[in-house]
Amino acid sequence: MSYIKADGIVIKEINTGEADKILTILSKNKGKITVFAKNSRRPRSKLVAGTQNMCYSNFMLFKGRDMYTMNSCDVIEPFYDLRCDIVKLTYVAHILELVNDIIQEEQPASKTLQLLLNTLYIIAKTDRSCELLTRIFELRFLAILGYAPYVNGCINCGSDDSEHMNFSFKKCGFLCNSCSLIDINAIPLSKGAVKSIYYIIHCSIKELFSFDVSEGVLQELGLITKRFIKDRFEKEYKKLDYLKSLM
Ligand SMILES: [Zn+2]
Repeated sequence: MSYIKADGIVIKEINTGEADKILTILSKNKGKITVFAKNSRRPRSKLVAGTQNMCYSNFMLFKGRDMYTMNSCDVIEPFYDLRCDIVKLTYVAHILELVNDIIQEEQPASKTLQLLLNTLYIIAKTDRSCELLTRIFELRFLAILGYAPYVNGCINCGSDDSEHMNFSFKKCGFLCNSCSLIDINAIPLSKGAVKSIYYIIHCSIKELFSFDVSEGVLQELGLITKRFIKDRFEKEYKKLDYLKSLM
């Protein structure tokens, strides 16, 4: 029987049978895969820890006809800090839903995995704004997948006047003030929002989370990414609305 080793993170778990689970795992080498974890809900199973949602592990898997079967797992990072904080947990649930929806089975996903792990790590280990970290994740995730908006200047005339830029969902990128007439629904952006959006899409992964924004810019980023994701993927993501009901 052939088996593979794979580092990956559980992004979805479904209980099945008496004590089994079917997991969706985002793995380094195989992308998104479906894995059957027999008896993993039994308290004494050696699979208990590594088959929890958000757990990053090294898995030993057998490849079957329809899905993989888990033989063993060694936990690398369980992200315990996320599990006891309802706010952090909700942001992460939103991020995992996005990844699960948008990444196709066995599509190469090593960059997405790296981004996901970095994002979860910062959400888990720091007290930085989950709202900002999530916006950064969303925009960078879109860029990795080739869906980023055009932000190198005005998409119509090439002007790079960052003080007078608008965001056009219709044109999928920035429009300068003169060109904004071609899309009357384009949203005016502050200079801070223009800089932040450009930075998130183009900076190195190491520097991705090394900046902060004002409350105003954060609201602009939220407006842009939420609408952009809704338009692109024809789905409205509502998990974060739950947090507003708690405030
Ligand atoms: Zn222009």
